[in-house]
Amino acid sequence: MSECIFCLIASKKIAAKVVHEDDRILAFEDINPKAPVHILIIPKEHFPSLDDVPAEKSDILSHILLQARRIAAEKGLAASGYRLVLNTGRDSGQEVFHIHFHLLGGRKMSWPPG
Ligand code: AMP
Ligand code: ZN
Repeated sequence: MSECIFCLIASKKIAAKVVHEDDRILAFEDINPKAPVHILIIPKEHFPSLDDVPAEKSDILSHILLQARRIAAEKGLAASGYRLVLNTGRDSGQEVFHIHFHLLGGRKMSWPPG
């Protein structure tokens, strides 16, 4: 998957502003932020979308959620709140087909999303 931009970021072949890394995941700042805090959290293993994560590997999802919560607190968002977005497939607007959670915060957000 060397052609996948997020695999290239995970393997440090493309630079990113990393805010968290461990053996299984990487969190980095979105290059085109939609909020004062906009961080992408990805598994290092390539799965195109949520639909491609096999049940036996689904613990990566809870790991990402717990790290998202920790990063949100670290960024000062615990009291004000934050949003996690997981775009999946065409209608969602997913553009990069390596599963990624958006962690957004630092401003009031509207609902429903566009
Ligand atoms: P999505 O529409 O859910 O697939 O979101 C893809 C996100 O990846 C967008 O918010 C982009 O701004 C972001 N993005 C694309 N390329 C990079 C990059 N090289 N570094 C950081 N963020 C990126
Ligand atoms: Zn990838």
